[in-house]
Amino acid sequence: MDEMLPSLPEPFRIKMVERIRLHPREVREKLIREAGYNVFMLRAEDVFIDLLTDSGTSAMSDEQWAGMIKTRQAYAGSESFYSLEKAIKDIFGFKYFVPVHQGRAAENILFSTMVSPGCYVPNNMHFDTTEANVLLRGGIPVNLVVEEAYDTQKDLPFKGNMDVEKLERFIKEKTPEKIPLIMLTITNNSAGGQPVSMQNIREVSEIARKYGIPFFIDACRFAENCYFIKMREEGYRNKSIKEIAREIFSYADGCTFSGKKEALTNIGGFLCTNIEELYEKFRNLAIIIEGFITYGGLACRELEAMAIGLYEAIDEEYQAYRHRQVEYFASLLRDGGVPIVEPPGGHAVYIDAKKFLPHIPPEQFPGQALVIQLYIEAGVRAVELGSSCFGKIDDTTGKFVPARMELVRLSIPRRVYTDNHLKYVAESLIRLYQKRDQIKGLKRVYAPKLLGHFTARFEPVN
Ligand SMILES: *Cc1c(COP(=O)(O)O)cnc(C)c1O
Repeated sequence: MDEMLPSLPEPFRIKMVERIRLHPREVREKLIREAGYNVFMLRAEDVFIDLLTDSGTSAMSDEQWAGMIKTRQAYAGSESFYSLEKAIKDIFGFKYFVPVHQGRAAENILFSTMVSPGCYVPNNMHFDTTEANVLLRGGIPVNLVVEEAYDTQKDLPFKGNMDVEKLERFIKEKTPEKIPLIMLTITNNSAGGQPVSMQNIREVSEIARKYGIPFFIDACRFAENCYFIKMREEGYRNKSIKEIAREIFSYADGCTFSGKKEALTNIGGFLCTNIEELYEKFRNLAIIIEGFITYGGLACRELEAMAIGLYEAIDEEYQAYRHRQVEYFASLLRDGGVPIVEPPGGHAVYIDAKKFLPHIPPEQFPGQALVIQLYIEAGVRAVELGSSCFGKIDDTTGKFVPARMELVRLSIPRRVYTDNHLKYVAESLIRLYQKRDQIKGLKRVYAPKLLGHFTARFEPVN
């Protein structure tokens, strides 16, 4: 779709390597059984290629490591706080920010401050931790993404968009007083890493202003979203990623951010806003639950690594390479007949497990079944984003309500794996697809209520 993607190789060389090992198949079968058929319970060293997440798994650059060593550690007033402040003002343009140890801490502070029981929080689509943090405050998370997001085969440029008509209808129905904030997740992780257009961001912002509701962006993958806007939306081809980012954030009152994605660090995050009285509240709560605001629950070196990483993320050559690698991986799977979410997103390729395993009903977790088979087949770790992650038990009927989509996400850690690693993963999946009839479903034997998929246990169905 993006005809102008330059086909340059990786814009970096490898300075340090880490050994990876593939256990024999019998060992993998034993390990996954012992893990309760849940890949979150595996040891990382038992995984050959780890596509569980792109979060906190980036390879840092020599510049980041150098910055971490050089920066001074301090409780108050550290220089790394000021480096990060400079980068945030320059790239995001927000007046105030508090650093936090990761994205969900920003969510916790945001929703603890703004959400009271019975309130609604509309989003294009909530990420799992975002949803859990809204629920924790008694709020009701509502997903108002465009309907096309649920059609995994429809090839549209901005399938992550909010349905703005639905949003306005929703505000009128519930009244603005019951909506403490509107959120927009860029890119839309839960719908396959799909981007949101600038036009959509502008329209959501206009609606928020019209009804006097604060508008916050979940900016976890903002730079990947900017690159999509550059390549796909009219009028942005000649703009830099930073210019596009500045425009995006100019429409919002603040953002949550996990540095574990696009700050190319292994930990960190922040919460930004332009609203002074909100900032006061954020800051006071942050000090209680995260730490003093010039370190935010982190060693100061992590702030320095984020400040440097943010600039590496908005580097055009890096983004071109990143998007080309995702597209390369998707094309191998597509050519092998594997049903993937089209078009592929920014940080991952998602498989449609309903189409891959049509013989497994949602109650038997087709996505989870595929994740488990992929580990057994190839030592590759992916993650289920389907009924294990998003399925619900109805409070009144006690019945299982499956998720709307059964997806398996293959996230691509930043600057970690070569095209050859991804080719191995694609070939393994194609092999599994050819013998898909033999794959059986799973029975869930344990799951806590919130974010249950992390610790759930399963057994094979006979
Ligand atoms: C990862 C993520 C979060 C939460 O960030 P953590 O650093 O993992 O706590 C929130 N929203 C989205 C869209 C994410 O991808």
